[in-house]
Amino acid sequence: MAEVLGSQTFSIYIHVPFCQKKCHYCAFDSTSDRSCDFQSWLKALHRDLDIQARCLGRGSHQVTSLFFGGGTPSILPPEMIEQILLHVRKLWPLGDAVEITLEANPESTTYAKLKSWRSAGINRLSLGVQALEDHRLALLGRPHDSQQTRRAFAAAREAGFANINLDLIHGSPGHTPEMWEEELGLAMALGPEHLSCYALTVEPGTPLERQLHTHPWTLPDEETTATLHFLTQRLLEDQGWKRYEISNYARSGYACRHNLDIWLSGDYLGVGPAAHGRITLEDGSVIRNHNHWPLETYIYSLKSGQSPCRWVELSSLEEAGADCLLMGLRLMSGIPRHLYRELAGRDLLDGKAKEAEFLVKEGFLQLDAQTIRLSPKGLDFLDSCLASLI
Ligand code: SF4
Repeated sequence: MAEVLGSQTFSIYIHVPFCQKKCHYCAFDSTSDRSCDFQSWLKALHRDLDIQARCLGRGSHQVTSLFFGGGTPSILPPEMIEQILLHVRKLWPLGDAVEITLEANPESTTYAKLKSWRSAGINRLSLGVQALEDHRLALLGRPHDSQQTRRAFAAAREAGFANINLDLIHGSPGHTPEMWEEELGLAMALGPEHLSCYALTVEPGTPLERQLHTHPWTLPDEETTATLHFLTQRLLEDQGWKRYEISNYARSGYACRHNLDIWLSGDYLGVGPAAHGRITLEDGSVIRNHNHWPLETYIYSLKSGQSPCRWVELSSLEEAGADCLLMGLRLMSGIPRHLYRELAGRDLLDGKAKEAEFLVKEGFLQLDAQTIRLSPKGLDFLDSCLASLI
């Protein structure tokens, strides 16, 4: 493996795995077990950063975005966030317009923490709201109520956050279009710059999956799910929100740069337990890392001087092209055609002409000299379109 990062700019994702309690629907790599303390995780994280900096090079490579995701990053003592940012700054310069996002839950977001995050350099806050109705929050097993959300949002504004996202979930048991319309209205009334609206998925092995067997609950049927989805689009677009990705809406100029970069096959380091990254090396080859999980394994490997991850090289141009479609076709703006050509080593029409032409003819795909993009109708059938093109 070559030893130097090929691109001049990259992003960093930092995984904070701790949560106050597991939400009923959660299948993310997070834990409410406190047998591993924050300090051991922090030490391991700094080593992880050092190892990745040694492997990939430091020099003039510039960080364009950082994202503290989780888990619940807001659960950490705020000085830890500051220490991590100081550590990153020692390894690489941050770009002048760097976007630094922190995911926060309302119950662990205080004015004092918000002030501290702002002065450490966090300039984008992503609040895990999920619902604005208390009984729905309880059903999802969230550790906060809607009053705490309102307080956290107001405190964030007061502390100087001018770029706030709210994460919302629709399609939980019993959720009707009328309820969702009301919740979306309440979310918009708070006045955020960005909204992520995800459909609930019931993951195997979660408490929610078990509860669905023991409670008289029903999930919205297919028709209601489709209505919830179209309602989201209609209500938000009517209010001037721009849908720029399947589930993401932003006020003008507030699309999440970190995610945009990742969806457009940009380079990013994945740091922390279970984090993964994607890096282009100087020779043009692309490698992916996937850090160890569970947390104890991650900490143990770093303590004993081993790598915290497995590096896997994307073995073929075919694979790199598939990866590019998989990520980029989620975007309303699609993928620059030259980017696909560079990564796949051929044009889409050279390898998948029959499939692409069929999708164009049926109105699912739009192809011009510059761009490969799915139409709104194609986005509703994203999985089938991808299956046909990959
Ligand atoms: S806060 Fe997020 S990561 Fe933590 S348990 Fe809930 S859904 Fe999972």
